[in-house]
Amino acid sequence: TSQVSLQQQIEQLIRPEIRALHAYPVGDASGMIKLDAMENPYRWPQTMLTEWQQLLADVALNRYPHPKAPDVVDGLRAAMQVSDQYDILLGNGSDEIIQILAMAVARPGATILAPEPGFVMYKMIATFVGLNYAGVPLADNFELDADAMLAAVSEHQPALVFLAQPNNPTGNLWDEAAMRSIIEACAANAQPGLVVMDEAYLPFSSRQHLYLLDEYSNVVVMRTLSKVGLAGLRLGLLIGRPEWLHELDKIRMPYNINVLTQASAAFALRHYPVLVQQCEQIKATRTVLQDSLSAMGFAVYESEANFVLARVPANRQARELFEQLKQQKILIKCLDGGHPSLMGCLRFTVGSEPENAALLSALQTLLA
Ligand code: PMP
Repeated sequence: TSQVSLQQQIEQLIRPEIRALHAYPVGDASGMIKLDAMENPYRWPQTMLTEWQQLLADVALNRYPHPKAPDVVDGLRAAMQVSDQYDILLGNGSDEIIQILAMAVARPGATILAPEPGFVMYKMIATFVGLNYAGVPLADNFELDADAMLAAVSEHQPALVFLAQPNNPTGNLWDEAAMRSIIEACAANAQPGLVVMDEAYLPFSSRQHLYLLDEYSNVVVMRTLSKVGLAGLRLGLLIGRPEWLHELDKIRMPYNINVLTQASAAFALRHYPVLVQQCEQIKATRTVLQDSLSAMGFAVYESEANFVLARVPANRQARELFEQLKQQKILIKCLDGGHPSLMGCLRFTVGSEPENAALLSALQTLLA
């Protein structure tokens, strides 16, 4: 009897593109000042924490969650002023929504298209579900390259286009006319495409894109509660025409939003102004961070998000600074070595004022 080795079994069974992947990198941040993942650094006021704990005591863990989480949907609709014309689909983080969208369009040869540098999960999820992925480089100032995007839309006839506004990791907003031309080109393609406006960083941005839903039938808007302070809950949402969401909802796992998340999110949404206030504080600290980094010789990019992208001074190595900060228990994100346009770039999540002060003082010493 011929025995196939475990390694051979894996090679025969697991698709080569999956074997070639590296799992999404999440570093160990225990005991560190954590400025790598765009979290809200603030906790809730004690009265709110106490009220929440009492509420959790009544959650029935022995029961499956409500499949449609109506309290959460109503809370989101009110907090985000979503008109009744549109439906809301919930995901276990917006990551899961990207996956639902990708699964819905996955057929041989179909493509996901996104500008680069961008959020890495678009490409990873395309690979998970067997879709092609096309990344289109941004222009030098990280603005959309409208001509390159339109050429790619025509060449690949993408099923899905992701436009993150503000974009991660660049932090900026793009020209609205360029985005409209991309949406219109997708609608006009022989193989039409759905454009997903990814508004993960909306709480820190001066612009939102719900109005595009009124104007275009091939747009949906994706949001998350992660950046306003609920990253641990894992709750993302898709806002769109009922016709689209009706189809996508068939792919959603029936109990994807667990009972603790449902109870906690509905509660947090009743206290949404507290979270909004924290985001205002983060925006104020963002300005301090940008000004201080500039004064130290970094090339600082504009930001409409809760992080700042900056290029290290000419005589410095980004990777080395990143490692030195890490030794001092400050974790940021080094983007050098990733997309070529990010050479020498570091990404700093805006932390609390004390965290920001610690970061700046460490950098001050390192650059002296
Ligand atoms: N979109 C963008 C642009 C992001 O940067 C992130 C998180 N880094 C997400 C979506 C996913 O967020 P979540 O799954 O926490 O909702």
